[in-house]
Amino acid sequence: MAAATMPSLPQVVSRRDRDGGLRHGLPVAPQERFLKTDEAAAPAKRLRTGGVGDVGPRAAVVMPEKKEKRLVLVLDLDHTLLHTTPALRLAPGEAYLLRRPPPPLGQRTLFDLRETHGILTKLRPFVRTFLREAGAMYDLRICTKGNSAYAHRMTRLLDPEGSHFSPGDIVAREDFREKDKKSLDVVPGGDERVVVILDDTVDVWENHLDNLVRVRPYGYFAFHGRPGEKSFAEARLDEEEAAGALAKSLDLLRRAHEMFLDLGAGGDVREVLRCLREKPELRAPRHCS
Ligand SMILES: [Mg+2]
Repeated sequence: MAAATMPSLPQVVSRRDRDGGLRHGLPVAPQERFLKTDEAAAPAKRLRTGGVGDVGPRAAVVMPEKKEKRLVLVLDLDHTLLHTTPALRLAPGEAYLLRRPPPPLGQRTLFDLRETHGILTKLRPFVRTFLREAGAMYDLRICTKGNSAYAHRMTRLLDPEGSHFSPGDIVAREDFREKDKKSLDVVPGGDERVVVILDDTVDVWENHLDNLVRVRPYGYFAFHGRPGEKSFAEARLDEEEAAGALAKSLDLLRRAHEMFLDLGAGGDVREVLRCLREKPELRAPRHCS
């Protein structure tokens, strides 16, 4: 991996959330400036057929038709599954994180990547349970505005065994056709009828809002926190596990999956999501009209 130097300091930008809430000013995330490495030089491979981005000989392979139409869950990384900050931006009250002996690898949720990338990354509480349980119902993809090197590194932190993601499941900003706009056109298997998107940011998905489930943004470090409030790290706290945002999202995804299966062949998950938005208490689509 190439030697890393600290990227230049981020700029503060403001974004308006289409849900009606004004998001606090978020600095440009370090992952959007993540340094190129050998890893980044390889474009995301498309290992499945059906994605618009299919390239190479595999794209010509005709796969046998699946008996059951599988749902696809497209996951954002930053502020959805994890939080990354430049190490140089740690608040004084967060410096203790660098002095603590790390727990055994399997139990680790905070990763000190200063030597290679100049960053620290904290996984969101409940994320591994979330991936395991969501992965049983959905085919999982990553779609991030971070670059390819960052996306692959973060995916390895989330899924060290490679149980949930293969390289072809990862879409990074080099794959985007339009700057700062995410699109299912470049997501393998990105058929709008079967895709649910989980992201903390709405405006990047303006062409696929019917597929979007917004999750409350996760911020662990002060750098992306709200002015005047202590970060989770400073307060030595964290988001709840079992009652946190990912657990709530998983509950909705379970219901969406169940309702989609009830629709049978030809079902469209956008209809299911519309139902769940309007009547979140529903358990079956037949009550939803
Ligand atoms: Mg995000």
